[in-house]
Amino acid sequence: MVRPRRAQYDELTAFHSEDYIQMLQHTTPEEAKQNPRAYLKYGIELDCPIFHGLFDFCRLYGGASINGASKLCQGEADIAINWAGGLHHAKKGEASGFCYVNDCVLGILELLKTFPRVLYIDIDIHHGDGVEEAFYTTDRVMTVSFHLKREGFFPGTGALADRGELRGRGFSLNVPLDEGIEDEQYLGLFRPVIDEVIARFRPGAVCLQCGADSVKGDRLGPWNLSVEAHAAAVAHVKAHGLPLLVLGGGGYIKTTVARAWTLGTAVLTGQTVDNALPPNPYLEYFGPEFRLNWDRPKYNVNYNKKQDLERLRRAVMEELKALPAAPGVNLEAYPPDALLPNYDLQTPEQVHASLVEYTKTHSAHFLWCVEEGLAGDLFS
Ligand SMILES: [Zn+2]
Repeated sequence: MVRPRRAQYDELTAFHSEDYIQMLQHTTPEEAKQNPRAYLKYGIELDCPIFHGLFDFCRLYGGASINGASKLCQGEADIAINWAGGLHHAKKGEASGFCYVNDCVLGILELLKTFPRVLYIDIDIHHGDGVEEAFYTTDRVMTVSFHLKREGFFPGTGALADRGELRGRGFSLNVPLDEGIEDEQYLGLFRPVIDEVIARFRPGAVCLQCGADSVKGDRLGPWNLSVEAHAAAVAHVKAHGLPLLVLGGGGYIKTTVARAWTLGTAVLTGQTVDNALPPNPYLEYFGPEFRLNWDRPKYNVNYNKKQDLERLRRAVMEELKALPAAPGVNLEAYPPDALLPNYDLQTPEQVHASLVEYTKTHSAHFLWCVEEGLAGDLFS
């Protein structure tokens, strides 16, 4: 166990915009309540309110992910876990989906100081949109997200067709699934896809976001995954033996989250744990079963048809076969070359068309381009 230090202002602004971080630092809940319209552009609303201690909270969980990444960089750990992290929806200048600071992005930026290529894997039921967006145009980070995609389900992004742009073309991968997916179906896709991604991309390190809202019984997530299947996905990533930064994420039933991350911790530390829960001060919350895994009566109808999943698997594998070789990089080139257009790869018309399409659902990406003076490249 390591007690992490808080993230510094400069570490937060390695990804986030200064005005956004200053807003998180200085705004009181009272100010936000008095003038809510002024904070809408920062995503401060119902899902993401300002509360007392917010900035310290961001510095703590952000610092823990950066610390974990730096332990991996220095070879002081093979696996670093920050269950308080994994807030994958936060954008450069915008809070989103209960996420304020994107510690996944901050951790990956730290890993990129040492490792030429970093793989991000997201098993939260929601699309890892903030991380995808941050690295959408670089080939140094490949993002892979398995998520529920259906009309009206947050955040609405993460289509199979969103594959990255410019130098990042091919290095964003989305595996959109329907409601009610079950263990065998999920792992039957997850394992071969991850194996193929790692074989092709050859990452030096992996960042794994382990949102537990993908587990059965969640308040927001309508899937049928067992705690064991969730842990089996974690075990499969671990088995590749790469330096691994493990983060938490969503999860809206406390006892389910505790179960999933307990078994995840056991898998990652090579322990076996009994299904019967030992005596502990919180035991009463885990009744009436008092077991690590349990069969909840609530069953979500499974809309994932065998033939659709097979078609999806084939499409994903085809995409991966076409993945361009990720080049080695001169590590002096840090920070990563996100958002630098490279027109050698595609015609400006193609870049224009696909980025316009992408920015329809990724407004923060567009705003970032405007701030960076890159908007002209989008629409010229
Ligand atoms: Zn989630």
